Amino acid sequence: MVLLDGKAFAEKIQIQLKSDVALFVQRAGVVPGLAAVRVGVNEASRIYVNKKAKTCKELGMHSEKIELPEDISESKLIDEIEKLNRNPKIHGILVQLPLPKHISTPKIQNSVRVEKDVDGFNVVNVGRLAMGESGFVPCTPLGVLRILEEYRIPIEGAEAVIVGRSQIVGKPMAQLLLGRHATVTICHSKTRNLPEVCRKADILVAATGKAEMIRGDWIQKGATVVDVGINRKEDGTLVGDVDFAGAKERAGWITPVPGGVGPLTIAMLLSNTVEAAKQQVEFK
Ligand code: NDP
Repeated sequence: MVLLDGKAFAEKIQIQLKSDVALFVQRAGVVPGLAAVRVGVNEASRIYVNKKAKTCKELGMHSEKIELPEDISESKLIDEIEKLNRNPKIHGILVQLPLPKHISTPKIQNSVRVEKDVDGFNVVNVGRLAMGESGFVPCTPLGVLRILEEYRIPIEGAEAVIVGRSQIVGKPMAQLLLGRHATVTICHSKTRNLPEVCRKADILVAATGKAEMIRGDWIQKGATVVDVGINRKEDGTLVGDVDFAGAKERAGWITPVPGGVGPLTIAMLLSNTVEAAKQQVEFK
């Protein structure tokens, strides 16, 4: 079994990004900027946003945190996003999810200017991915694709099984793997015989949010297992959606939790932001 080391790969990407940023600043005279919008008090969101801001700083990028009250109206939130859409210091906008229930998440995602939509959640970027056109791709599945490529996992012709069909992980993951010519099966809570479907997978991506639900004996011997899940157990430890102890006995390659997909998500967000800056600024 080989560990797919997301932490080490994210560090490698960030070293490259740091030199890209320095070159961009030197040539364009502009610092790539990311704004993170957070609504309400959610401890996990606060930690994620702070981590993103810290990494921006380490790479020489500009970052802004916009913290708004839980009871903000949808129209006021859109006004705040409009300000960022017009702000020339900001090239990428991230709206931290989940949003409070009185706010329509798609409406907010679609209010982010397509060119600054570094999370790839605007319907235009979602459509571009579905059409196989270039655009911003959601960071978590993009990170998964990058690590498969980094470790030269064969994708073309492979049986890929994705457990989870969310807009932010499962569906875009399926589009990306289909775009690389995998044979893709998407599973969800109504899938029958899930263990049997998983056993077909050469590449198994787990994104259910259910701690350790994918058991070792659901995994084909030698398969590549990517665990997107991040779940905190009662004793405080973090585990994925895959039972790592069981899975590592059968998998050929596997991502750990933590240190697998998580660090890559941030690296992809910053990579998308640098790309957005390059597209928005005259760069010679
Ligand atoms: P969602 O809750 O939006 O989606 C979960 C999906 O899993 C749904 O499609 C659901 O099916 C499916 N599912 C749930 N239970 C089962 C089951 N028993 N059998 C089969 N399918 C099931 O979650 P997300 O996609 O947002 O996140 C998934 C996980 O990934 C979470 O642990 C989250 O914390 C983590 N995550 C990690 C990131 C990272 O950076 N590493 C980034 C984003 C998420 P149905 O549609 O039928 O309800």
